[in-house]
Amino acid sequence: MNKKSLIIISVLFLIIIGCTRGEALGKEILKDEDLKSLNLEDMTEYRIDVELNKKNNKLYTGWQYTTFTNTSKETLEEIYFHLYPNAFKDLEDAPILMKGLFTDPMSYDKGYIDILEVSADDRNRDLQYSVTGKDDTILKVILDKPLEPNKRIELFLGYDAKLPNVKERFGYGLRTMNFGNWYPILCVYDEDSWNLEPYYELGDPFYSQTANYKVNIRTPKNMVVASSGSIVNENIVGDEKIYEIEGEYIRDFAWVASPDFKIRESKADNTLVKVYYLDEKNTTLKTAMDSAVDSIKTFNGLFGEYPYSQYTVVITEFPSGMEYPTLSFISNDYFSNGTKEILEQVIVHETAHQWWYSIIGSNQVKEAWLDEALATYSEVLYNREVYGEEKARDFYQENISNGFEYGKRYLGDDQTVNKHLSEFSGWDEYGILVYTKGAMFINQIDKSFGEEVLYRILKEYYKEYKYQNAKTEDFIRICEEVTGTNFNKLVDTWLN
Ligand SMILES: [Zn+2]
Repeated sequence: MNKKSLIIISVLFLIIIGCTRGEALGKEILKDEDLKSLNLEDMTEYRIDVELNKKNNKLYTGWQYTTFTNTSKETLEEIYFHLYPNAFKDLEDAPILMKGLFTDPMSYDKGYIDILEVSADDRNRDLQYSVTGKDDTILKVILDKPLEPNKRIELFLGYDAKLPNVKERFGYGLRTMNFGNWYPILCVYDEDSWNLEPYYELGDPFYSQTANYKVNIRTPKNMVVASSGSIVNENIVGDEKIYEIEGEYIRDFAWVASPDFKIRESKADNTLVKVYYLDEKNTTLKTAMDSAVDSIKTFNGLFGEYPYSQYTVVITEFPSGMEYPTLSFISNDYFSNGTKEILEQVIVHETAHQWWYSIIGSNQVKEAWLDEALATYSEVLYNREVYGEEKARDFYQENISNGFEYGKRYLGDDQTVNKHLSEFSGWDEYGILVYTKGAMFINQIDKSFGEEVLYRILKEYYKEYKYQNAKTEDFIRICEEVTGTNFNKLVDTWLN
C-alpha cells in the first residue's frame, strides 16, 4: 500500500474510530462547586491490585474491591459488570480495527478474563455468579441479600486475564502493552435498568459512571507505565516495580506499559501535560506536545476548565487515537506515516474527548454522535482559536463538508445520526453520520446563532453535566434555552 493510501486510511480511522482518553486528576484543582452535582458518599470506588505474571507479562492477575451504592429506587438482587477482555476470545467478532489487514487467524493469540472469585464482607462470604452475554462479556453477581435503595456494598472480584496479540485498546504490539477496558467495570443502572450491551466491533461502545480509583500495578522493574489518574508513588522492590495510582472523579481507568517509554512534560494552565514516547523524533514530539498543551488551554477557555492536575498522551502501538479519562492513546503510526497536520488533528480530537466523553459522559452505544460530533467540531473551534477564522473555514471544508459530500455515496436511505450502534451498517456509515454529519449539526448552530452563542451552549452544557451522563435531549434542551429557539426542526434535519 502506498503512503497516500496509508494516510487516507489513517484519516479514515481517525474519523471513524474515535478516541479514548484517560485522565489524571488533582484535588488541588477540583473545586467544591464542581462537585455539587455528585453525592460524594455514594461515589463508586474501585481498589485494584494488578500484577503482571513474572514469566509471561501478557498475563495478569487482579484483586479488585468495588464499592457501590444503589442509587436507584429499586431493590437490586443482582449487580452486573462488563468483562470486555472476553470480546477478544474469538477472533471472528473481536473488536479489532483493520482486522482483515493485520490479523492473521493462524497466529492469533486470544485475550480473555477468567473470574476466579466473587465475594463480599472482605472475602468472607462467597457469592454466586455467572458469566453471560455475547462472548461472555457480562458478569452477573447474585446478591445473597438484596441491596435496598441507598445501601452500599463492597464486592471482591479475583481474576486472571490475558492480553491478545493485537495492537488494540486491549492488546499488545512489539513494544507496548495496552490496557484499555481491561478490568471488570460496573454496568450502568439507569432508568432503563441495567445496560448490558456487548463490546461492539463498531465505535467506542462504552458507557460508565464517574468513580474514584486506587490502582496498584506490579510490573517487572524495567517497565514504565502511563496511566489514567496520577502516579502517587513508584517503588522498586527486588525485581519488581510497584506503581500506586489514584484517580478521582473519572469514569474509567486505562494504562499502557513499555520498557522503552521516555517521558516529556509541559504545563497547560494548571495541568501537567505528559507525553510518553518511544523513539520519535524531536520535531514530531514537539508537535504532539504543542497540540496537547494548546488543546487543553483552548478548551479551558471555550468550554470550562479541565479539572484534573494531569493529562497524559501516550504514543503506543494502536492504529488510531483513543480517549480514556486523563489519558489518550495516540498511534505511533502517525509519527512515521502521517503528517504533522494529521497528528495534530488526532491529538486535538482526543483531547476534546476529555470534555465530551470523559468529564461529561454519555451512552456511546445508544447515542454515539453526542460525544463524537462535539469532539469533531471541537477540532474546528481549536483551529479558529489557534490559527484564525480562515484556517478554521478551510479545515471545516476539507475535513467535514467535503468529507460528507465524498462519503454520501456510502449511505443508504437511512441517514439517521442519532441511533444505536447495532443500527449502523459498518464503519463507513458510522464515520460519515456520527462524526461528519453530527459535526455539521454543530456547525449549523455555529452558523445560525454565531460563535458566542455556541460557546455559551457548550459552557452551559459542561457546567450542568460535568461528571454526569448526558443525553441528546439534555444537550438539545440547553441549546433551546440558550438560543430561545425551538430545535425540533434542526434535530429532524440533522439527527433524526
Ligand atoms: Zn472520537
